[in-house]
Amino acid sequence: MDTSPEKISDSSDSGKLRVGVYICRCGGNISDVVNTEHVAGICRRIPGVAVSKVHTFLCSDPGQQTISDDIRRENLDRVVVASCSPFLHELTFRGAVQRGKMNQYLYEHVNIREQCSWAHKHDPHGATAKAIALISAAVGKVSRSVPLEKIRLPNHRRALVVGGGPAGMKAAADLAACGIPVLLLERSDRLGGKLHTLNRLFPTADAAVELAHKLASQVMSHPLVEILLKSQVVKVSGFIGNFEVAIRGDFGPSGRTTDVRTTVGVMVMATGYRPYVPADGEFMYRRHPAVVTTVDFNDLLTRRDCGEGTLMFDGRPIRSIAFIHCVGSRQVDGVHTPGPDGRLHAYGSRVCCTTVLHQALQVRRRFPGTRVYDLHQDIRTYGRGHEEYYTDAARAGVVFFRYHSAEPPRVTGTNGAKSPLRVSVKDYLSWGEEMNMEVDMVVLAVGMTPGPCETIVEQLKLPRGEDGFLQEIHPKLRPVEISVNGVLLAGTAQAPMNIQETLAAAGAAAVKARAMLSKEQVELNPYVAEVDTRLCEGSGACLAQCDYAGALTMTQTRRDGHAVRMALVNPGLCVGCGACVAVCPTRAINLNGWRLDQYDAMVDGLVRDIAPSAVN
Ligand SMILES: Cc1cc2nc3c(=O)[nH]c(=O)nc-3n(C[C@H](O)[C@H](O)[C@H](O)COP(=O)(O)OP(=O)(O)OC[C@H]3O[C@@H](n4cnc5c(N)ncnc54)[C@H](O)[C@@H]3O)c2cc1C
Repeated sequence: MDTSPEKISDSSDSGKLRVGVYICRCGGNISDVVNTEHVAGICRRIPGVAVSKVHTFLCSDPGQQTISDDIRRENLDRVVVASCSPFLHELTFRGAVQRGKMNQYLYEHVNIREQCSWAHKHDPHGATAKAIALISAAVGKVSRSVPLEKIRLPNHRRALVVGGGPAGMKAAADLAACGIPVLLLERSDRLGGKLHTLNRLFPTADAAVELAHKLASQVMSHPLVEILLKSQVVKVSGFIGNFEVAIRGDFGPSGRTTDVRTTVGVMVMATGYRPYVPADGEFMYRRHPAVVTTVDFNDLLTRRDCGEGTLMFDGRPIRSIAFIHCVGSRQVDGVHTPGPDGRLHAYGSRVCCTTVLHQALQVRRRFPGTRVYDLHQDIRTYGRGHEEYYTDAARAGVVFFRYHSAEPPRVTGTNGAKSPLRVSVKDYLSWGEEMNMEVDMVVLAVGMTPGPCETIVEQLKLPRGEDGFLQEIHPKLRPVEISVNGVLLAGTAQAPMNIQETLAAAGAAAVKARAMLSKEQVELNPYVAEVDTRLCEGSGACLAQCDYAGALTMTQTRRDGHAVRMALVNPGLCVGCGACVAVCPTRAINLNGWRLDQYDAMVDGLVRDIAPSAVN
């Protein structure tokens, strides 16, 4: 194909612009596949491109300096960088552009690593051609970019923490320690969450109730923490720096239910988990009183009447127990029935294996006359000090059986035999042998399911993962942030975690919240919808399509002396999804930074006749 300059044309008036194109070799990650020098040569011929350069590491200080210097020296007024994912370095290069005294929104980022060299590593010609096409599209788009400014809104320096379990208490205490006023909301009548249902905690053997008291005393004694018990959010709207919250609770000495309204800058979701409740009849749960969950068993072990030397339950000695792992976790389609929420719990609940071994060991040590059987799919005791429970349990005489997920153990009654329950399992620690054991008690190791926070989730449109837990933006890069800016995740509201992980996550959420509240004003990216008041005919199609409460409203105004209905965007609430743009019958609504004419220019750029001839 011919790639001579004469063949390249551009429908925009970009001839007047001076665009700088910078292509990164990424230390060979890109240039081992994409012919970066050839790409730079071709790009020089695109109308408007004044500079086209290749660098080994553009993200390095010298790489960034090249861009900033060129903006001044070469009088550039637009910049395109073709490198790795924008997730990694878009902000880096925006910074370089700003240091060159150019508006950062006159910058465009092209990913030629993940989308070219990595995706097409066996096709260097194709990867190179694709890189040229993508850069050409970006030059088209940036040529139509206009300078934008960040949206600046007031920032209320106050945090709302929803949930008074370990996560909520830790987040509140850490925030208050940084001088941030906190409102800590708990739906029950006391702080502590599930710590009140636990006994001695793995891996430290601390008493759960003492940990609850320690954490509670940190928040109760702090003057910056206001605690509301028996309270829940009934209405919430707004955006980072400005969440309007209505709370219903029993306030004041009369204990009367009242609603209060308040404004906070950030919200920490620490709403925790609910233990999985087995269905009626699942492993004979609720069909036989001696089939209990690990939560019930914890409770039994804390009771004074559970016996000295011999474990007692319902007035009967318990001489044998079978623990069954993965009840409500790692469920398999076709084997398990979805729960009332229609979901299968395919995930592992992470704490249950250690919980079982911890409980089994306690039984063997406190009640040596009780035989213990452990029926698992795998043992997943990850974490410092957890694996030891497995070794110790084996040494203490716990007998292990391994079952396949498609062949879960079966629990039946024995009709008057010495022990009331029979557990049958095909054991794959041996050779699939059918094992039967008669036991006095069956303990079901229940997993975790998401905690109750529907009102906030629905009103703020917080995303949940497939497992139903609140979903972070990125598990590694932004692990405690959710896609709604200003809302953070702490503890098991996000995923099954043990207390150590819960407190670490809550600490991270507090640090993030503090950073968000550290500025007087909140700065938001300007990629929000904007209405062209000359074109809007007030059809309301945009409003019907908008998923974000308050982001769009219809307003009455006057145009050319006539009263007209018109759409109005609240830039604090608009997330820039573009759904409104797609449905506007008069093309009156556009997304700043992603306007329709920029899409047109991108398409023109993509189909420009600049396929790479004579590559390599
Ligand atoms: C059987 C079992 C045994 C366990 N044993 C251990 C152990 O030994 N060691 C260990 O490290 N971990 C253990 N865990 C895990 C431990 O329970 C959790 O890590 C910990 O409780 C998580 O704390 P959290 O604050 O995230 O949630 P939670 O403890 O569930 O607290 C959430 C709080 O938020 C409140 N809340 C919920 N929704 C709202 C709302 N909408 N508005 C206001 N308040 C709300 C709840 O009332 C609750 O007080 C065990 C778990 C199970 C299931």
